[in-house]
Amino acid sequence: MLRLGDSRIRTKLYVAYAGAFLVIFLVAGGIIHAQVRELLRRNTENELAKTTEALRTMVRATVDVSIRNYMRAVSEKCLDEARNLNRQVQRGRLTESQARERAREAFLSMTIGRTGRVYCLNSQGIMAVHHMRGLVGVDMAGLSFVREQIRRKEGYMTYEWKEPLETGQRSKAVYMTYFEPWDWIISASSYRSEFAQIVNVEDFRQRFFELRSGRSGYPFVLDHDGYLLIHPYLRGVHFRDYDSPMMSAVAERIVTERNGHFDYMWRNPGETGLKKKVVYFKDIPELGWIVASSSYYEDFQQPLDSIGYVMLTALAVAVLLMIPVSFGIGALITRPIDRLQENFARAAEGDFSVRMEQHSRDELGLMAGYFNSFMERLTAYSADLESEIARRRQSEKELIAMDRAKSMFLASASHELRTPLTSIIGFLHLMEKRFRTRFMPVLGPLDPVGPQARKFEKNLNIVRVEADRLGRLVNDLLDLSKIEAGRMEWRDKILSVDRVLHRAAEASGAPDEDGPGVKLMVDPLAEPMAIRADEDKIHQVLINLLSNAFKNTEAGSVTLSAVRAGEGVTFSVCDTGRGISEDERERIFDIFYQGRDENSRSTRVFGTGLGLSICRRIVAHYGSRLVVDSVLGKGSCFRFTLPFAQGED
Ligand code: ADP
Repeated sequence: MLRLGDSRIRTKLYVAYAGAFLVIFLVAGGIIHAQVRELLRRNTENELAKTTEALRTMVRATVDVSIRNYMRAVSEKCLDEARNLNRQVQRGRLTESQARERAREAFLSMTIGRTGRVYCLNSQGIMAVHHMRGLVGVDMAGLSFVREQIRRKEGYMTYEWKEPLETGQRSKAVYMTYFEPWDWIISASSYRSEFAQIVNVEDFRQRFFELRSGRSGYPFVLDHDGYLLIHPYLRGVHFRDYDSPMMSAVAERIVTERNGHFDYMWRNPGETGLKKKVVYFKDIPELGWIVASSSYYEDFQQPLDSIGYVMLTALAVAVLLMIPVSFGIGALITRPIDRLQENFARAAEGDFSVRMEQHSRDELGLMAGYFNSFMERLTAYSADLESEIARRRQSEKELIAMDRAKSMFLASASHELRTPLTSIIGFLHLMEKRFRTRFMPVLGPLDPVGPQARKFEKNLNIVRVEADRLGRLVNDLLDLSKIEAGRMEWRDKILSVDRVLHRAAEASGAPDEDGPGVKLMVDPLAEPMAIRADEDKIHQVLINLLSNAFKNTEAGSVTLSAVRAGEGVTFSVCDTGRGISEDERERIFDIFYQGRDENSRSTRVFGTGLGLSICRRIVAHYGSRLVVDSVLGKGSCFRFTLPFAQGED
């Protein structure tokens, strides 16, 4: 799976840019979209509210004017009628009471709307004509609107009136003309709530719909009973009779609340889908009408869609622009990093001469500077190191040369020493032997030179022993120096392991298995085995180990054995002697190291401290290692492994 963490810095930068850009764009876009949407919604609602108010004012004013005109016409018609009749009275065709009676009939036959009527008062407030006979002749001057009528006698006025049997007041309108000869204030009166029946909505229908809001919104008028009075396509329909219960619910809510606004879902006739609408509505209580204007949400959704398109386009353009810009910025950062990486790679391969170009003082410039000073130091260190190595190599060479010279000196010195020493030792042995066999037996027990002769014999023995020791030391030194100087001669041949073991056992000078003292045991071989080596050298090693074992063992046994170990044979010389302490175990292989154990036999049988060093070098010549296992006080085991002989000699 591709992980961003493993991708290149450039990719990370692009991803980060693109991510940040998209997030910012989306968040900003979202905020702008929401803000604009809110603004548009508020604007639309404001507009709707204003439109509704304007409609209401318009309807009110128009209705008022047309009612006024209507009632004025009625009132003036009555006045004409009264004048007409009065003229006939003057001409003598009618009596005045006849004329008044006719006028009364004519007036009462007129209806205004559903319950509106004409009545006449005289200037004292006495009812002269009224469709309720009981009121005729009654003084009405106690009523404030009557007093106003008496005062004004002509014109239009409105007032609140409560019918005797009703609970609430209702708004009434009255238009008055005054017929002076009879002192009649002819009043055409009607409840304003009934004006609707009088008003011909067609008169202002067109003007009404001109005040629509939005692209697809429209206004409508409902009366308090739920009849649609003005509507683009539904008219005179009661809301309960709409073809959809949903629409009825909207209308019912308007009729119930009378003022306010709400959102709802609407389906236009002929359309299948529902659309979200908002409606604002206001009551005209005196007419019993509710003016409402509705608008589709999509009206203000449309500009939003346009904004969305603009933003999408902007996003696309920005993305297109962002690609080269981010490539440029990315390259600005990653190119020096790439160069740094290349230079590091070259430096890692050992080329310390690489340097960065420092173009700027920014972080990358500083990094290039640090890289250069780092490389300067590295170059200096490497030069130091190289000269140090050269110096060391030189001194190593010198040391090797000196060591070789030393070994050669040692070899030739010990060689030169050995020749005279051999004859000295030979003569000493001879002298001692002769003295003991020829002089001593001829001396009688009371011979006066007896004590001197014995002392001489003793001294001769000491000289001979020391000479032996010196001879061994010189031999060992000679061996060691030869091996170190690479001048040892190796006469390798196929050797029978069995023969090697028995030769060593015989030469070790160990007491018999049955005799007293420390016994030597040779483990019999499980199978015949052969090695390829210099017989004398292997013999020398085994003899040395055996002699050490005897020297360091007070009682018990020394075991010599050889066993198969993989592709070779492991020789071991184990004893039950004093053992070797842990810190001594490695040092015993050092040149001239001799154990400090005062009680060991090594103090009696003089050693040279070279035996184990020589053994280790001989074994090492055959690619093996002489090792020791030991438990202090219990014994030690020396081991080395030689490979089986390959093929015939
Ligand atoms: P040396 O001539 O003194 O024997 P080596 O190099 O042969 O010199 O031995 C070094 C020392 O290692 C001896 O002096 C002795 O202390 C110790 N050593 C060698 N073999 C044994 C052994 N089998 N047990 C205990 N100590 C040993």
